[in-house]
Amino acid sequence: MTNTHPSKVLKYCPFCGSHRFIWDGFKAHNCQDCKQRLYTNEAGAVVAIIKNDKQEILCTVRKFEPAKGTLDLPGGFIDLGETAEDAVKREVKEEVNLDISDLKFHCTLPNTYVYKDLTYFTIDIVFRCKANNLNALQAGDDVESYVFRNPNDIQPDEIGLDSIRKLIISLKDKT
Ligand SMILES: [Zn+2]
Repeated sequence: MTNTHPSKVLKYCPFCGSHRFIWDGFKAHNCQDCKQRLYTNEAGAVVAIIKNDKQEILCTVRKFEPAKGTLDLPGGFIDLGETAEDAVKREVKEEVNLDISDLKFHCTLPNTYVYKDLTYFTIDIVFRCKANNLNALQAGDDVESYVFRNPNDIQPDEIGLDSIRKLIISLKDKT
C-alpha cells in the first residue's frame, strides 16, 4: 500500500482523538476506544466524451497535479448533493465553456487520485454528450488547453490518469 493510502495517512480517530484507530485492511478504520467506524468510500466523479463532426474527441490538458501536462477528458468531482448529470454539465462549462445536452450513460470506471499526499478513491461516471456550440470553446479552471484528437492516434503514455487511459483505449476502433 502506498504511503498516501488512507490507512497510512489517517492516524487519529476524528470522533474521540484516539490514536488506537485501526485500518481493517479493506475499507474502514475502527476506533478501539470509542468504537466508531470511519469508512473510506469511492467519491463520485464525472467524465464527458464530446466529439466534433470528424469523430475526434475533445481532450483537455491538465494544468495541475496529479498528472500535470497530460491529456485528460473534461470532468471532475461531483459536489455534495449534486446529481452526476448536473455535475458533468457544470464541469464541462467550467473547464471548456461548453453547454452540453443529450447525455447518454457510457460506463463507470474506478480510479485513484492522489491530492496533497492523500489517495482518494473515485468512481468515474462517463457520459457521451453533445456540445451545443463548439465555437464557444475556451479553457478555464484546472485546464491548461484543449485539443480534438482521434482516439486511434492517442498514445497511452500521453494520458495521465489510469481510468481515462482505459476509457480512451476502449474508444479506439477495433480492427
Ligand atoms: Zn474514537
